[in-house]
Amino acid sequence: MSTRSHVAIIGGGWAGLACAVELSAAGVPVCVFEAAKQLGGRARRVEFEQFEGIEGIEGHAFDNGQHLLIGAYHETLRIMRQCDADPERLLQRRSLELDYPRQGFRIRLPRLPAPFHLALGLLTARGCPPREKWVAVRFIRALQASNYQLTDDISVAELLDRHRQRENLRRFLWEPLCLAALNTPPERASAQIFANVLREVLDGTRENSDLLLPQTDLSQIFPDPAARFITARGGEIRLSARVECIECCEQSLAINGERFEQAVIAAAPQHASSLLRHHAETRDIAALLDVYPFEPIGTVYLAYPESLRLSFPMLGMSGPLGQWVFDRSSQQPESANIVGCVLSAQGAWDERDNDSLATALHDELQQTLGRPLPEPNGYRVIRERRATFSCRPGLPRPPAKTALRGLWLAGDYVCAEYPATLEGAVRSGCRVARGILGEEESEG
Ligand SMILES: Cc1cc2nc3c(=O)[nH]c(=O)nc-3n(C[C@H](O)[C@H](O)[C@H](O)COP(=O)(O)OP(=O)(O)OC[C@H]3O[C@@H](n4cnc5c(N)ncnc54)[C@H](O)[C@@H]3O)c2cc1C
Repeated sequence: MSTRSHVAIIGGGWAGLACAVELSAAGVPVCVFEAAKQLGGRARRVEFEQFEGIEGIEGHAFDNGQHLLIGAYHETLRIMRQCDADPERLLQRRSLELDYPRQGFRIRLPRLPAPFHLALGLLTARGCPPREKWVAVRFIRALQASNYQLTDDISVAELLDRHRQRENLRRFLWEPLCLAALNTPPERASAQIFANVLREVLDGTRENSDLLLPQTDLSQIFPDPAARFITARGGEIRLSARVECIECCEQSLAINGERFEQAVIAAAPQHASSLLRHHAETRDIAALLDVYPFEPIGTVYLAYPESLRLSFPMLGMSGPLGQWVFDRSSQQPESANIVGCVLSAQGAWDERDNDSLATALHDELQQTLGRPLPEPNGYRVIRERRATFSCRPGLPRPPAKTALRGLWLAGDYVCAEYPATLEGAVRSGCRVARGILGEEESEG
C-alpha cells in the first residue's frame, strides 16, 4: 500500500484531527470533511452572544461542556506538542484533589514519587475513618495483583461491593471517579473499563494522576493548532461538508464526488452507522452501532454579579443534581464571576427546564460552599444529549479496520480499552494513522 495515498477523513473531532495530524506529519495528503461549521466535535469552543438574564458577555470563551484532562492522557499531550500546542501553557497541571467542602471530605495526592503519593494521599484523606482507608488499600492491591484484569466484566457497583468499598471513600472517591471518567453511573458502568482507567491513573508515575485543567477554550487546545498543522503540510480542511455516503469504485472510495484510496470515518457512532449500513461488508458494524446506548452531559454556566473564587478550581457538589463546579477564572481571569456546573449521565436533572435547573444549582452551590451567594444575574445551559456512549459491561467495540477495502473507523468508541474521552478519541485516531502507514495492525 502506498503511504502517499490520498486519505479522506470524515469528521473533524479530536479523533479525526489526531489521525489527520499523524498522516500529515508522515507526508500523506489528507482531506478532512467536517459537517459542522467548526472543528472540534464534542469538545469545542462555543460562542454565546448573551446569557439568560444578561446582555453582552463578549470577551468570555465558553465550551460546549466543561472538560478535564489527566496526566495519563499521554497521546493527547504528545499530539498537542506535535502541533505546537504547548500543554504546559494551555493546561494547568494540579495534583489530584477531590474536595467535598460540605461533607468535609478531601483527598489530595502529594507531589511524591509513586506509589508514595497514593499511600500518603489515602493516609491523610479527610472525612473517612482509618478502617475505610485500609479497606481501600486492600482494594487497590487486589487490582494491582490481578494486573487490573477482571475475570468477568461486571458493574462498578458490584466490583465495589465485592471489595467492601461501602462508605465515604465509595461515595466521594470511587463513585465520582467512575462518573467523571466513564460518564456512566456505577450501577451500569463497566468495571473492566473502570479498572483500566485506575491502572492508568494509579500505576506508573505520579504525574499520571494529575488533573489538567484547560487554561483557554477547547478549540485552542487542539482543534485550531491541528488545523494549522494540517493545512501547513498541504492538507485540506472542509467545513460545512457533510458526507452523505461512501461509494466503492474500482480500487478507490468515492466521497462527495472525489476519489480517495483510503477513508477514515471519524464520526460519532450514530453518524458512523448511517455511512456503514450501505455496504454489505460493514452492515454488521452499523447494526451494532444502531443499538449503542448513550449518556448525556449538562453544563450550566452561572454568572454572578461579583467575583466568586473557589478554594480549588474544581469542587465536588455531591448533588442531588450537580456533580462538580468549576471555577472559570482558572480558565480566563475575566470570568471570575462565572462558574460551570457539570451534570453527568442520565438523571433527574435532564427532566428539568433550564430555569429551574439554574435555580437548583445556585442553591446547591450555596450549600457546597457553606455561605450565601448573591442571586446569579444570568445563566446558560448546554445539554449534550449523546455526549458519550454509555460505558456498560461487555459493550462490544468495532475494530478500526473494516472489511471494506480502504475503509477505517476512528473515534472514542473504537478505542476498546478506554471510556469515551479525549484520550480515547486521540488514541484511536493515531492508531488508524499508524495502520494506514503500515506501521501496525490496527484492530481498535
Ligand atoms: C459535555 C461533554 C463533556 C465531556 N467531558 C469530558 C472530559 O472532561 N474529559 C474527557 O476526556 N472527555 C470528555 N468528554 C468526551 C469527549 O469530548 C469525547 O469523547 C470526544 O470529544 C469524542 O471525539 P471524537 O472525535 O471521537 O467524536 P466527535 O467529537 O463526535 O467528532 C465527530 C465529528 O464528526 C462530524 N461528523 C459526523 N458525521 C459527519 C458526516 N457525515 N460528515 C462529516 N462530518 C461528520 C461531527 O460534526 C463531529 O465534528 C465530554 C463530552 C461532552 C459532550
